[in-house]
Amino acid sequence: MIPAETVQRIREAARIEEVVGEFLTLKKRGGSYLACCPFHNEKTPSFHVNPARGIFKCFGCGEAGDSVSFLMKHEHYTYPEALHYLAQKYHIEIEEEKPSEEEQQRQSERDALFHLTEFAQKYFADVLYNDEMGRAVGLSYLHGRGLTDEVIRKFGLGFCKDEWTDFTDHARKNGYSDDVLVKTGLTVVKEETGRAYDRFRARVMFPIFSISGRVLGFSGRVLTKEKQAAKYVNSPESEIYIKSNSLYGLYQARQAISRANKCYLVEGNVDVVSMSMSGVENTVASCGTALTVPQIRLIKRYTPNVTVLYDGDAAGIKATLKAVDLLFAEGMHVRMVLFPDGEDPDSYAQKYGSEQLQQYLAEHEENFLLYRMRLVGEGIKRDPIRKAELENSIIQSIALVPDPLERAAYITQCASLFAVAEQTLTTLVAKRIAQLRSAAHGNTPTPEAVTPAPAEGTASQPSTDSPAPQPTPMTPTASSTISLYERRLVTLLVRYGNEQIPSGRIADLIVSDLKNDELRFDSTLMQQIFDLYDQAIQKGEPLPDANFFARCNDVAMRNMAMGMFIEEYTISNKWKDKHVIIPPPEQRLSQDVVETVLSFKSNKLEQRMRSVDEKLKNCTDEEEMLLLLAEKKALKELHITINNGALHRVIT
Ligand code: ATP
Ligand code: MN
Repeated sequence: MIPAETVQRIREAARIEEVVGEFLTLKKRGGSYLACCPFHNEKTPSFHVNPARGIFKCFGCGEAGDSVSFLMKHEHYTYPEALHYLAQKYHIEIEEEKPSEEEQQRQSERDALFHLTEFAQKYFADVLYNDEMGRAVGLSYLHGRGLTDEVIRKFGLGFCKDEWTDFTDHARKNGYSDDVLVKTGLTVVKEETGRAYDRFRARVMFPIFSISGRVLGFSGRVLTKEKQAAKYVNSPESEIYIKSNSLYGLYQARQAISRANKCYLVEGNVDVVSMSMSGVENTVASCGTALTVPQIRLIKRYTPNVTVLYDGDAAGIKATLKAVDLLFAEGMHVRMVLFPDGEDPDSYAQKYGSEQLQQYLAEHEENFLLYRMRLVGEGIKRDPIRKAELENSIIQSIALVPDPLERAAYITQCASLFAVAEQTLTTLVAKRIAQLRSAAHGNTPTPEAVTPAPAEGTASQPSTDSPAPQPTPMTPTASSTISLYERRLVTLLVRYGNEQIPSGRIADLIVSDLKNDELRFDSTLMQQIFDLYDQAIQKGEPLPDANFFARCNDVAMRNMAMGMFIEEYTISNKWKDKHVIIPPPEQRLSQDVVETVLSFKSNKLEQRMRSVDEKLKNCTDEEEMLLLLAEKKALKELHITINNGALHRVIT
C-alpha cells in the first residue's frame, strides 16, 4: 500500500495539463486548455483541462476527473498503477512498507533480466535489418510472408543468427553475466559439456511485451520446413515471464481494442501481426497455450467483448469450447468467426487482402451461443435420440449468460430453432440459474443471498438483473446448509485468492488466519475447497483457479466454484450502510477481506455461545454451570474484541 501522505504528495505534484499533455495535443485558451476528447469521437474540441483546479472535463460526453482518473481511463491503469506512473513522472519516491531484503533482491534481479531482454530485442531487430545474414535470411523470410517493414518494426521483430553463440557473445561483451543470460533463457548451457549456446539461433524473433511495453520474453520461429526442429521455441518462464499472464500482441493492440471495444483472439503470432497489418489492430494471441483466466482479465481491462477466430478443424473447435467456458465464467461477451477450410486469419489476409479480410470478419462474426445452437441443431437432425441431452447442453450455456436481456434473446432464438415453446425453455433456464445460484449461495434465505449483486466495475449502479425464480425444491444437498459467512469467505478465496492486497496475497492471509485460530467450516464442501488452497499454499503450488475448477471431477465442487465465479460475491453490508459510492472491487478488496474474516469469526463465536446457552438451559450440575458461565463470559469478551476489530492484526 502506498502511504496516504505519499498519495497526497503525488496528487499535489501532478499537473493535470502535463499529465494529459503526454497523450493529447492541448491548445491554450485563457487560463485553461482545450483538446479533442479522447473518450468520444469529435471534430471540434470540447475537452477542457483546468490547471487551477487540477481537473479535466469534456462537455461533449461528460467524462471528467483528475490526473489519476485520467490515467485510469485513458491508459487503463489500475489505481496503484496510475499513482506509480505519476510518482515516476514527478520523481517522488514511494516508500512502500519497506520491501524485505528478499523482495529487494528479487526486484533487482527482475531489473537485470529486463535489462537483458530489452537489450536482446534491440539487437535482434538490428540484426534483421543491418546484418548481411539477418537481411538475407530473416528479413527476406518475413517479406516473403507478405509483412511490411512498418509492421515488422511495430512488433519489434528480429532475427537471431544461425551461429551457435552470436547473441551470447555479443551480450557477454556488453557486460551481461551468464547467470542472467541463462535465467532469461536466451542462452542455454548444455549440462554434459557446460557449453553455452543461443536458444533461438536461426529463428525469427517475436518479442512478447508487457502492457507497459517491457520485453518479457520471446517466441522464435524456424525458417526451414524441416520436421526435426520445433516450429516455435519460446522463452522459458522466469522471474519476469509467466506465460499464463501474458498475451502476444496486447501491447500493440491495447488502444485499438479499447477504441473498437472488441478484442480478436487468434491462435498464432503471425496471425496477430498479419491482422494488424491488414488494419485489424485489435488482435491478440495466447502465446501458444490454452487461454487462462489471468489472460482474460488482461483483455477485460480494455473490453468485455471477445471474438474468437479459429479454423474449423476438430482440435480447433475443442480448444475453443474450453476457452469459451472460461470467457463466459469471467462475464465476457463471446463471438466467433469460423474461417473457411484450411485458412487461418493470416493466410486469408495474404490471399485476399485487407479489405476482404475485414469484410469477412464483419459478415461471419457470429454470436457464439447461436453458433453452438446451430451445431446442436445439426446434431439433433443426425441423432434425434440425443435430443434432450443436446438441448440440455445449450440450456446450460444460456444459463451462464450474465445479462438477462441477452439471455431472453437466446431463448427466443433457441425456441424457434428447436421448435420448443419459449416458456418451456425459459423455465428450464431459470431452473438451471437457480441451481447455479443455490450452489453458489447455499439456500439460506437471507436477503443478501437472493438479491443479485451488481456486476463488477458497476458496483455503484443498481443491477438490472432480476432475481432468478424460486428454485424448485431440490434434493437437499450439503450446499443447502451453508451459511452466508462461510460462503462469502470461500468465494473470496476462490475468486480473489491470488490477488495481492497491501498485507499480502489474499489466500495466504485467509488460510493462515483461520488456521491460526483453529477454525473450521461447518460445510464439508466449503472445508474441502479451503483445504485445496491450504495444500496448494503449503506445497508452494499455484492456487486453484477457474481453469482448475472447470475441469474438476467432483461435480458438487465444480458447480459450487463455477457458481462463485459467475455470481458476484455480495458486497459487504458495511458499504451498503454508508451511503457512499462503492469503490470497484479491486479497491475494496482489502476491506472486504477484513470484513469477511471478521464476520466469519464473529458468527462462529455466536454459534458457540448459542450452544453454551443451550447447555446452560439443560444444566443441573452447579459446577458444570459455573464452567459454562465462565466459557460464555470468555466467548463474549472475544466477540467484543473481534467486533472492535482487534483481529485486524493479521490483515493490516
Ligand atoms: P505460421 O503461420 O508461421 O505457421 P503461426 O504463428 O500461425 O505460424 P501456428 O502453427 O498457428 O503458428 O501456432 C500457433 C501458436 O502456437 C504459435 O504462434 C506459437 O505461439 C505456438 N506454437 C506453435 N508451435 C509451437 C511449438 N512447437 N512449441 C511452442 N509453441 C508453439
Ligand atoms: Mn499461421
